[in-house]
Amino acid sequence: MAKIPILIKEGKIDESALEELIIGIDLGTTNSLVAIATDNVPAVIKADGKSGLVPSIIYFDLENEIKVGDEAKEQLLLKPDRTIYSAKRLMGKSYNDLNEMKQHLAYEIIETSEEELVKVRVGEKFYTPIELSSNILSALKSKVENLLKRPVKKAVITVPAYFNDSQRQATRDAGKLAGLEVLRIVNEPTAASLAYGLGKEDEEDKMIAVYDLGGGTFDVSILNLQSGIFEVLSTNGDTFLGGDDFDQAIIKYWTENSSLTFEQVKKDKTLTQKLRIEAEKAKVSLSNENVYNTEVDGISLSITKDQFEKLIKELVDKTIESCESALKDADVSKDQIDEIIMVGGSTRVPLVKQSVSAFFGKEVNDKIDPDQVVALGAAIQADILAGNQKGILLLDITPLSLGIETVGGLMDTIIPRNSKVPSKQTRQYTTSIDGQANLKITVYQGERDLVQHNRKLGEFILSGIPPMPAGLPKVDISFIIDADGVLLVKAKELRSDTKTSLKIKSQYGISEEEMAIMLMDSIKNAKSDMEARGLLEARNEGNSMLKSLEKFHRDNKDYLNEDQNLMITNFIDDLNGLIKGEDKNLIHGKIKEINTFTEPLANEALTRIVKNEIS
Ligand code: ADP
Ligand code: MG
Repeated sequence: MAKIPILIKEGKIDESALEELIIGIDLGTTNSLVAIATDNVPAVIKADGKSGLVPSIIYFDLENEIKVGDEAKEQLLLKPDRTIYSAKRLMGKSYNDLNEMKQHLAYEIIETSEEELVKVRVGEKFYTPIELSSNILSALKSKVENLLKRPVKKAVITVPAYFNDSQRQATRDAGKLAGLEVLRIVNEPTAASLAYGLGKEDEEDKMIAVYDLGGGTFDVSILNLQSGIFEVLSTNGDTFLGGDDFDQAIIKYWTENSSLTFEQVKKDKTLTQKLRIEAEKAKVSLSNENVYNTEVDGISLSITKDQFEKLIKELVDKTIESCESALKDADVSKDQIDEIIMVGGSTRVPLVKQSVSAFFGKEVNDKIDPDQVVALGAAIQADILAGNQKGILLLDITPLSLGIETVGGLMDTIIPRNSKVPSKQTRQYTTSIDGQANLKITVYQGERDLVQHNRKLGEFILSGIPPMPAGLPKVDISFIIDADGVLLVKAKELRSDTKTSLKIKSQYGISEEEMAIMLMDSIKNAKSDMEARGLLEARNEGNSMLKSLEKFHRDNKDYLNEDQNLMITNFIDDLNGLIKGEDKNLIHGKIKEINTFTEPLANEALTRIVKNEIS
């Protein structure tokens, strides 16, 4: 057991004396749970007599107060528009991505613009999937804090192997919003393999199939484990196939084989809720018994194991087809698979186990509770990160993007957030004024498009650039982050070899709370930021058009007729006015107009120059 140091005088926990506590979280579509390793042994955190599973459901009451878990699940059918389930399915998705999913959701998702990330509407309020997931994570965090009577600040969170970068990023952000420092995002199948003790020996070289059948999703992953590193070779599955479908099949069977009718069920939500609960009970019970009898609203209902298996056979066969495809994509044959790992509550169904085992021609690993196996693996990963399991190299990542200010106050990101540390990136810049001798380099951290909204880390001046026309100097700016997270920024003008540098240590001076606020701001302001960036870019373009147009006018005045000269003077006035305005489209329009007008004139001028040179 962990010892808890208490400062008796102040009646407080002596946090400095606490060994670092890092929790492992399985943030599931249907259920979530937390595990912690103590003395290298992982265990699920739960109250006495409870499973520790927290349904991944959030209920917003009329005051928009939040309930998470079992209490929220009770409202699922009674208050469908205020009870949000499957938030995980929305992570990192735009409205367009969800076209086919919408029909499966009982709550409302909002279309802001097609490419923008979705939001969920509850009453008059809008919630991002990140906020929703963070509600679940907060509930898990407080639950653990209450049970262990100590604060929790750090976590490892698992995600499906098929999650892309933005879905992983969204999961990280949800953790931050919940006040958790997310030390690592781990693939669910990798976590499950860790829980089975795989990956501990250096010499190990194994092919692993992880079969995960949860409440609403199925996925299978083929992993290759070599010298402690897991590589996902392929994934396959069905995002709308799981234990819920088994429950639905039972309800359908009951409506066909009792005095209950389908119409009755359809219009009576309370009855449907009761039936759902009974169907799930029947299913769970049939994992161990041969028959299940019950009564709902005075109607007796029953189902045998044989009947249940007939109902779900087709669904189970579909998962086996996915296994076949996954093997094919990984270019691995069945007999090359060394371990088959069962994950997810629905793999308790005997027919599922038998079918998987028959397909691979091998016993499956099902000793560890399939509900817990992912969380337990996350706890092992957390234990490794806490340094309690020796001999494993850790790679860190940058929490926020790093970049410099460019013309018009725009943020130009050089090292994006979540880059591995150590890391080095170089980008080339130039001057914007003729004969410019000094270049100011201001370093910022953050995700917003305008530097004024980001955090300034420092600035320095590259001086002594020899006089050259604007655009000619080549200035390389390099960002180098060493293994300790110290950022070194170097600037070098290549033509003259002028150089200077700046060391910034304050990368981690920022608190988790500040980071969460910054991230949230960038999400909330994405649209206005994009507009502001668009306007600034148009103004920059307008200004450079002005410069060249004025120069052209000076050089060619004498060759142009009166009308042409007047047109150009007007263009200059118009553009000047528009640049001071707020409409980027007007600026772009004017630039286009000027281009069309001046193109033939520029060609004539060019011909003149060439002729002059020849004669
Ligand atoms: P997810 O990964 O999607 O969050 P879980 O792994 O928690 O989901 O699986 C939940 C599903 O497992 C539910 O459909 C639940 O009914 C089902 N389940 C749990 N226990 C059993 C059991 N003993 N037999 C059959 N199904 C079960
Ligand atoms: Mg799961």
